[in-house]
Amino acid sequence: MTVRVRVGARTDVGRVREGNEDAYMAQDPLYAVADGMGGHQGGEVASSLALEKLEKAADGRSDLAEVVREANRAVFAKASQDPGLAGMGTTLTAVLLQDDRMHLAHVGDSRMYLLRDGNLERITKDHTVVERLVDEGRLTPQEAGIHPQRSILTKALGVDEDVEVDVADVDVRPGDRVLLCSDGLTGMVEEDDLVLILGQHGDPQAASDALVTAANDAGGQDNITAVVLDVEGDDAAAPQAAVTETVERPALSEPAAPVAPQAAPAREERLEGRAVGPPRRRWVRGLVWLVVILIVVGGGLFAVKRWWVDRQWYVGQSNGRVALYQGIPAAPLGFHLSEVVEVTELPAGEVTPFPEYRNLAEGITAENEEDARAIVDQMRADVNEARREAREPPGP
Ligand code: MN
Repeated sequence: MTVRVRVGARTDVGRVREGNEDAYMAQDPLYAVADGMGGHQGGEVASSLALEKLEKAADGRSDLAEVVREANRAVFAKASQDPGLAGMGTTLTAVLLQDDRMHLAHVGDSRMYLLRDGNLERITKDHTVVERLVDEGRLTPQEAGIHPQRSILTKALGVDEDVEVDVADVDVRPGDRVLLCSDGLTGMVEEDDLVLILGQHGDPQAASDALVTAANDAGGQDNITAVVLDVEGDDAAAPQAAVTETVERPALSEPAAPVAPQAAPAREERLEGRAVGPPRRRWVRGLVWLVVILIVVGGGLFAVKRWWVDRQWYVGQSNGRVALYQGIPAAPLGFHLSEVVEVTELPAGEVTPFPEYRNLAEGITAENEEDARAIVDQMRADVNEARREAREPPGP
């Protein structure tokens, strides 16, 4: 049997981020979501390059997973060539429709869901630290939702020369609804609410619009992308044009505001961005109440510390090594307003000779954790480069 799909798709910058690094593809028979990450324009480049390379699978003759691995190599190569894009990466959750089967290829924490007879089933597994801890029984799904490392990916496209791709074949039938989405949706909207929203909107475009709206209403902490695929029998009378009408190329939003010129996180287990787990929204609400109470009751310093100081990041040194700090590099009235989050292997003495890092001892402030990690990665790259040059002096 052959089926066809009606598509609704929407991507949105959300309410916090300055640029949209998500992208999607909806070109029959290929449907995909990519959530890019990396400093500069890296995230946008990674997600759109991955989708561009994915197009090769549209002929149905290429192996989808192999095309995804090629896309991985393309993103990795570009990241290696262009220092401004170093360390960029992207998630990719892609389906190729053939007859009544969806071939799935997946890397990262974007997701595929299947809604059938009112039941929403998650098809993909998040490649995140917390999902691994849940699998190992070391964390409950509830704990995972509020875990400080819930945002850290264990795998992404473009950060290594090779990537292991999850594959699956999903048999679909008329009446099924498939959702492909980025973590900007699932981090903000619980699965029970996804079911409700998907049930309220018969039209796939209205459904994807409503999902994005719900994520924004819940805070819109991240870029949000939702691609809704309604499976129909091939005898459905609607003309093909009706399908392609709702199909757009990845609608990337306005470019991100310029940030400090640093390379993006290079190590894959440090890729940033991402929240998973349904209890998130409840947790956010709980946190807001907690902070309100703290301000009212405790007032002053403590609230300032929660609201502001803990949101600050900087790179400093600890025992002669470069270290990542959360807080501010000062101790007014003897209050220490920072703590070491991570001590790296980088010797401070090899970093401070670089003019841009000479203030390491006082602390180099960063906009956020991602930024701080990007600074460290840039330091590492600079130090490695210097070591290389020391070994091999430039030729004649
Ligand atoms: Mn995201």
